[in-house]
Amino acid sequence: MNINKIVVASHNQGKIKEIDAMLAPFNIEVLSAAELNLPDVEETGTTFEENARLKADTLCRLTRLACLADDSGLCVDALGGRPGVYSARYAEDASGNRDFDKAIERLIGELRKTGNDDWSAHFSCVLAFAVPNQETQIFEGRVDGKIVLERSGDKGFGFDPVFMPEGFDKTFANFTKEEKAAVSHRGRAFQKFVKIFG
Ligand code: IMP
Repeated sequence: MNINKIVVASHNQGKIKEIDAMLAPFNIEVLSAAELNLPDVEETGTTFEENARLKADTLCRLTRLACLADDSGLCVDALGGRPGVYSARYAEDASGNRDFDKAIERLIGELRKTGNDDWSAHFSCVLAFAVPNQETQIFEGRVDGKIVLERSGDKGFGFDPVFMPEGFDKTFANFTKEEKAAVSHRGRAFQKFVKIFG
């Protein structure tokens, strides 16, 4: 596919940075929704796929450019899969400001309350890629792991300081961008997505 510019339908700087790095080898310019003054599309869906489609399709209609949207979240087994599709909102206060220190505190508090010592969790990511006059394509990625009590690391974003992926003894917040991209939910979805560029 011959595309040299992609609008990323996200206002999350942590995600844009990761996506920018993953697309760099393909000489694709990444434009963020914020720099184009595009609206932050409300995530009204109940699944990652619904939300990713909604964001990519809406911005593609508005810009007539290729648009990529990512919807992702943390699903914790002992919490019945929550916060899941509502992960971003889980970190918001009453005025809509995100505070991940507080979100992590809340998560650990909820887990302790369950009395369950199995803190298995996974991150899921669904990418939707919308190109004018073409059917929107979907790519999925997942990484299994667990939530740990002690935060550690200062890289990454969101729940990274307390998420330890399976097969590693450090949290995502101790991974370099490249290390995280090799195993993360977003990285895995991207490995499938970039195949369309040959
Ligand atoms: P959304 O996809 O913008 O709705 O937000 C996804 C939310 O899931 C983020 O705000 C984080 O809470 C969480 N999340 C998704 N991916 C990651 C990740 O790679 N590390 C840490 N938290 C993540």
